[in-house]
Amino acid sequence: MPLGEFELIARFFDRGPAREAVLGIGDDCALLALPGPHNVTAVSTDMLLVGRHFLAGDDPASVGHKSLAVNLSDLAAMGARPRAFTLALALPQVDETWLAGFCSGLFAIADRHDCELVGGDTTRGPLTICITVFGDVPPEAALRRDAAQPDDDLWVSGTLGAAALAVHDLAEGRPRAAGDPARLRLDRPEPRVALGLSLRHVARAAIDLSDGLLGDLGHILDRSRAGAEIDWPAVPVDPALDGLPDALRRRLALAGGDDYELLFSAAPENRSAIEAIGHRLGLPLARIGRIVAGEGLRLHDARGRPLAVDGHGFDHFA
Ligand code: ADP
Ligand code: MG
Repeated sequence: MPLGEFELIARFFDRGPAREAVLGIGDDCALLALPGPHNVTAVSTDMLLVGRHFLAGDDPASVGHKSLAVNLSDLAAMGARPRAFTLALALPQVDETWLAGFCSGLFAIADRHDCELVGGDTTRGPLTICITVFGDVPPEAALRRDAAQPDDDLWVSGTLGAAALAVHDLAEGRPRAAGDPARLRLDRPEPRVALGLSLRHVARAAIDLSDGLLGDLGHILDRSRAGAEIDWPAVPVDPALDGLPDALRRRLALAGGDDYELLFSAAPENRSAIEAIGHRLGLPLARIGRIVAGEGLRLHDARGRPLAVDGHGFDHFA
């Protein structure tokens, strides 16, 4: 006999008395304490739809992981510490095997980041996962998109392009095997939460790379009313892209999405502090360009010649 809504919530999502929340799952609302006198609450929502953000046959544990990872990535990009999340779930039917896998991936990353599930909603419908995360940040330390200033350095964490390569190969009918490194970057993105926290009072503007470096940098430039120069040879292209034709390599690294690395601007006097953060976290941080006065985004090669990139970022309505 299929589980009812309340049994399903009790079995899969209610993990006993709340730790972080004053009151968690089971009442009309969850109760969260205010985050102390020096913090404000950072709130972000991301929705994942079957057929658009993942496929029905995808490993449910990876779907659970990614659903929360993309939300934690938004907190990271704000310099916020994760606290709690809610989960709104539409399910076509109660598939206990799928739910158990989904929960294993979801709660593994939730526990690693001390982010507690405090409520949600469950309904029947096409498979849809909508998560809202709550985090803490002192307002003056928040890494806002509008805070970049001319002459700031531009930095990016990790490597770029591997997730886009996995998407590209899938579209070409050559899906990569489950354990393939590029496929792992797509299925199991690692939100840069520790980096975001370390960048408080060090970086000025930040954004997480979900739609591709050029498009996401464009959001910082729009909000900060500035331009930028990017030095293509300094961009940390993922080794999975080695050997690809130049134009494809450039497109995947600069205009491909789903990397969930952080792109941030910082004053040049903070260079050594940023390098120290990278060493401490064991995460490469590359200085790829700078913010300039005026408008526009210029990309250049090793000799300073302008480069073009086809396909800027990803826009669901384009
Ligand atoms: P209400 O009808 O008052 O909105 P629901 O019956 O939808 O309450 O949910 C009962 C309780 O279970 C609430 O505390 C709600 O936050 C929680 N809940 C429902 N679905 C989920 C879910 N998918 N994950 C976590 N908590 C959930
Ligand atoms: Mg409800």
